[in-house]
Amino acid sequence: MNEITYMVIEGTHKNPNDKSTIIKKTKKIYGPFNKKKAEDFAAGLIQKNVDNYYHRAWVVKGQVNLNNICEECKNDSPTVIQNLMMHGYKICDSCKLSKTIFPI
Ligand SMILES: [Zn+2]
Repeated sequence: MNEITYMVIEGTHKNPNDKSTIIKKTKKIYGPFNKKKAEDFAAGLIQKNVDNYYHRAWVVKGQVNLNNICEECKNDSPTVIQNLMMHGYKICDSCKLSKTIFPI
């Protein structure tokens, strides 16, 4: 799978216009996503933290180590990557059914 993937990084910054000033302990990384999903996800994070001037979310292009391990049950399933790209959750279909964590 050579599709270009995107990650979203959010966190509090010393200088919100400079992503290298992110404060490490506030840093969260999400993804991988496809481009559209990454942009939507970042927009959602920005919206949610709109009152925090120092909070920023960035979309970064990157190839990540994709595997099929579900984050919930740790089982290896080919549906994990599909769910990750589609919904942004690294879970298998059986966990997807048992959880109602899908974004609107
Ligand atoms: Zn699972």
